[in-house]
Amino acid sequence: MKKKYIIYMILCAVSVLFVVAASIIYEKLNIWIPFAVSIALMLISIVWLAVFYIKNVKYRCPDCGYVFYAKTIEIFLAPHIATRKRVKCPSCNRYKWCKEVWE
Ligand SMILES: [Zn+2]
Repeated sequence: MKKKYIIYMILCAVSVLFVVAASIIYEKLNIWIPFAVSIALMLISIVWLAVFYIKNVKYRCPDCGYVFYAKTIEIFLAPHIATRKRVKCPSCNRYKWCKEVWE
């Protein structure tokens, strides 16, 4: 699992480098096509990484120890500190600071 995560992060870093290179090409040679393609690839990689994160991250309740998938809207909007997020535990039915659990 961790290896898959590292591959996704490398792909995102490569797409950012591609955007930088394409923007330099655009500035020096005034060719806009590589820049447009690189922006599209970067947006795709961001969406890809977000979907990967949603599908692979579970949360563990600090009180009851229940491990669960959070709702997608909660993942994006809930307050968080490092690897903890304030999401609703389905077992306790209360909002808690739950720790991320990677499979
Ligand atoms: Zn709980």
